[in-house]
Amino acid sequence: MVKAIVGANWGDEGKGKITDMLAAEADIVIRFQGGANAGHTIINNYGKFALHLLPSGSFNSNVVNMIGNGVALNIPELFAEIKGIVDRGVPMPNLAISERAQVLMPYHILFDQYEEERLSDRKFGSTKSGIAPFFSDKYSKIGFQVWELLQDDDVLMEKIKNVLEVKNIILEHVYHKPLLSAEELLETLKGYREMVKPYVINSVEFIHKAIKEGKNILLEGQLGSLKDPDFGIYPFTTSSPTIAGFGAVGAGIPPYEIKDIITVCKAYSSAVGAGAFVSEIFGDEADELRKRGGDGGEFGATTGRPRRMGWFDCVASRYGCMVQGTTQVAFTVLDVLGYLDEIPVCVAYEIDGQQTKEFPTTDKLNRAKPVLKTLPGWKEDIRGIKNYSDLPENCRKYIEFVEKEIGYPITIVSNGPGREDIIYR
Ligand code: GDP
Repeated sequence: MVKAIVGANWGDEGKGKITDMLAAEADIVIRFQGGANAGHTIINNYGKFALHLLPSGSFNSNVVNMIGNGVALNIPELFAEIKGIVDRGVPMPNLAISERAQVLMPYHILFDQYEEERLSDRKFGSTKSGIAPFFSDKYSKIGFQVWELLQDDDVLMEKIKNVLEVKNIILEHVYHKPLLSAEELLETLKGYREMVKPYVINSVEFIHKAIKEGKNILLEGQLGSLKDPDFGIYPFTTSSPTIAGFGAVGAGIPPYEIKDIITVCKAYSSAVGAGAFVSEIFGDEADELRKRGGDGGEFGATTGRPRRMGWFDCVASRYGCMVQGTTQVAFTVLDVLGYLDEIPVCVAYEIDGQQTKEFPTTDKLNRAKPVLKTLPGWKEDIRGIKNYSDLPENCRKYIEFVEKEIGYPITIVSNGPGREDIIYR
């Protein structure tokens, strides 16, 4: 059985916690896209952890944690993360790295920084983790798959020289920055080789065998629908698909095997980086929600940047669930809204004087104004409640209103950051 867990919004929906819970029942947890450019926060028996690249099954020694071929693999970051958890008493995770995953190079990070510098006030608000240059190189066919690291030094050196030829022209003439040395890069890659060697597998054979054996496989998504390069707020998206369907590609799974798509939706909105955000709020109202949001405030897990805040957006979330192919919704961080007398919800967009519930392309999105409906708050701390029927009436009404607007069943409600703060409906 293959399940996917993905985000409906701009990321930071609280996928980490839901994944951690589901990982407890999984045999294999797979990262299938993205890289170390976003983070999950996981709180469990060992403490509180921010994971960026390590799959969330890493706290459970029965789980194989696989880096799929679709991932931008930052090798030093992955091993620093492993060290970070092992140093805090977690047993060494059971790790598998697809031989077809591509290696994020130190120069991808440099090019990401240089390009944002060049763009100046037109910048994308990149996390500067090298993701966009990485995927550009992957599709320009000048990336390095993991197996390439395992070749003889002279073969590796030849490719390095070919790639650096063009990189150095750009560094000199576009960015006016120091040039890259092939010898230095070879040494770096030899170091990477030693780090990954024990974990490299033929992931295609591995996955197909696991499916045949009836293993429980969890595809772990990063970011959310609205950051998808095809369906999101392009060009203010990420550079690899955030959609569950991409699990078929980024993990090498037959598409018809992905049976359950659990889409995580946060009870209010937050976003990082540039781009349209129709239900965004500002000033004191936003500061208050930011301060109370998540677990200790809405600040980036990777960058520490304050997140942009907004009310729940039914238009964006309905669309976000739709493009995921959602089978069930996990509605998270609901406890945070307990301080509000009234809770505005965005139920439609007004674009050029017309109301719509359809999520538009970026041009129209930039002109969209939120149509808000205000629901009564419940003014109560709902943490610790275990049964749906014990939630305050207005809280249930909020959930049921959202469910009707987005059109997908909310089966899981998260009412606190801990593993036990969960209500199944
Ligand atoms: P992800 O990128 O979707 O995995 O999101 P993160 O896990 O980084 O961000 C969610 C934040 O909200 C983290 O600080 C979580 O600990 C926290 N969180 C998750 N679920 C809940 C919840 O139901 N209530 C509260 N208050 N915090 C939550």
